[in-house]
Amino acid sequence: MKKQISLIVLFTCLLLSLQVIGKSGNQKSIKNLLYAETLTVVRFILPEGHPYKNIGLFSGINNKILLKFGDSVTVKDESLHGSITWYHCSLDNFSFYLPDVFVVKEPESIRYDENGNIQIGEEVVNMWTALPIHYKPDDLIRVGAKYLAESSKNRAIFLREKAASQFMLLIDAAEKDGINIRIVSAYRDPGYQSYLYEDAIKRKGFFQSTVAKPGHSEHHLGTTCDLTSDEISTGLTSDFEYTRAFQWLKDNIHYYGIYLSYPKYKTDITGYEYEPWHFRYWGNDRWESDRWFYRSFIRR
Ligand SMILES: [Zn+2]
Repeated sequence: MKKQISLIVLFTCLLLSLQVIGKSGNQKSIKNLLYAETLTVVRFILPEGHPYKNIGLFSGINNKILLKFGDSVTVKDESLHGSITWYHCSLDNFSFYLPDVFVVKEPESIRYDENGNIQIGEEVVNMWTALPIHYKPDDLIRVGAKYLAESSKNRAIFLREKAASQFMLLIDAAEKDGINIRIVSAYRDPGYQSYLYEDAIKRKGFFQSTVAKPGHSEHHLGTTCDLTSDEISTGLTSDFEYTRAFQWLKDNIHYYGIYLSYPKYKTDITGYEYEPWHFRYWGNDRWESDRWFYRSFIRR
């Protein structure tokens, strides 16, 4: 146990010292040094307290190394076995393997505005490209209970300011047409996403396509909502497709810069199963320039 703690302390010190040197202006040379010896840097994404002792080559090292959610791991090599990519990692003097389901690749370059946010509509996040695991928009605001589904009324639900106003406008407009639409969930931090992800792979296996890896979820953006209606009582199911609310959304979301992320029959493009309840705000500019593409996309 003592040895384990001292290893973790040593690793943390190493990371901190790299950061300090980076901030003092030598970041480039440190990066070059790092990449000269390694291929890439990935982050461990499972929640704490779940060491997975029986996963192939990963077993046997858990007594020496304890990885926590968000730890970065240096990758020396990677290889494909069956459908799983294994990363050959090193930490201190230890060398071990991690399967790709346990890690997320840090994106190489991201453009932030002066507040540290990624501009809405410019964010690339999907099954193949992640957001930085520590990214958090600084303009998240709490959505009023009036706009929330019954099951979410006691929870704090957040969206980025602009997305919140568009979703609220949308819900108000639907209300005027006699249609009930409510928000079930919105912003999700990657730490929480890691619990959902772990739960999904436990239930459905490594190749499940229902829950995104932490860093890969559109809910991390703060511009995305799961919607429901009082027409159904079963929460987030494909039955939502048969509600008047869904029909109304199909006809109207383009006025609000919002679109359905995972349409029917598009799993080969999106990587995710059909989710008629999952909507993302892209900004009206995007709709203006690509509106014909998105209109046909959602209607199929
Ligand atoms: Zn969703």
